[in-house]
Amino acid sequence: MKIVKTIDEVRSQVRQWRAQGLSVGLVPTMGYLHEGHASLIDASHRDNDRTVVSDFVNPMQFGPAEDLESYPRDIEHDARLVEEHGGDIIFNPEPEEMYHKGFSSFVDMTVLTQELCGLSRPVHFRGVCTVVSKLFNIVKPDRAYFGKKDAQQLAVIRHMVDDLNMDIDIIGCPIIREDDGLAKSSRNTYLNDDERKAALVLSKAIFLGMNLVRKGEKSCDVITGSMKELIEAEPLAKADYVKIVDCATMQQIESIDRPALCAIAVFIGKTRLIDNFFTEDV
Ligand code: AMP
Repeated sequence: MKIVKTIDEVRSQVRQWRAQGLSVGLVPTMGYLHEGHASLIDASHRDNDRTVVSDFVNPMQFGPAEDLESYPRDIEHDARLVEEHGGDIIFNPEPEEMYHKGFSSFVDMTVLTQELCGLSRPVHFRGVCTVVSKLFNIVKPDRAYFGKKDAQQLAVIRHMVDDLNMDIDIIGCPIIREDDGLAKSSRNTYLNDDERKAALVLSKAIFLGMNLVRKGEKSCDVITGSMKELIEAEPLAKADYVKIVDCATMQQIESIDRPALCAIAVFIGKTRLIDNFFTEDV
């Protein structure tokens, strides 16, 4: 397992693999890897001869008031995890390697980014689409792996690949949770003990919503209303959004009459966490 810092090195390694007829999987991450990331690496290792894990805190997807500076980083730990899970390369570029002086091209998306995190984080998906396009052009993988934890991101990437005729299979992987239900996230490390307890309100709200859907509740207002009530009862929590959207368009719907995504973003103190479920999966 190699840590690679430059685009040229990644390209030359991938070229060698291709010359041997090997398939390549890509797992894009921002590092500080946990079992959620590991499940994506496992899936890529299973499906492909070689796996590249990108480990890059992408400045372009952070808004000015967000946590770019404080985002946790630990490349040694990440390297161990990637090695243990059968990854072959960690691509860990400096921002200047990805965005040279004079960088001025972007990939952006309209409809799918108007709701949920796109609404709360206006520059976010432009940054995500741009960096993922760059990673796709650098690695040219057969398959790329994304977690359902970031469900809107997964939908946006699938849509981008389809719109722009990128010849890459996008594989969505299930959400990995802590034993008590909290979805694993690099940002969980920001939480102090009280906040960690309070953060359970996210998965509790998700399980409540799932149960209502399972019992046949169709009204999105009823489902999101119950979830909001539960979140508001936790003093350290403040809901950013609790919404149900059409899976294909990411536009809000009133009734569960098609495949839908129920997504939440909640501030626990200053830390913004997300969670979700697909109505088809309940
Ligand atoms: P990040 O490093 O947070 O940008 O995440 C990199 C990839 O890992 C994204 O595709 C995420 O959806 C995925 N991921 C992060 N946390 C989890 C989790 N708890 N379960 C499954 N996938 C995850």
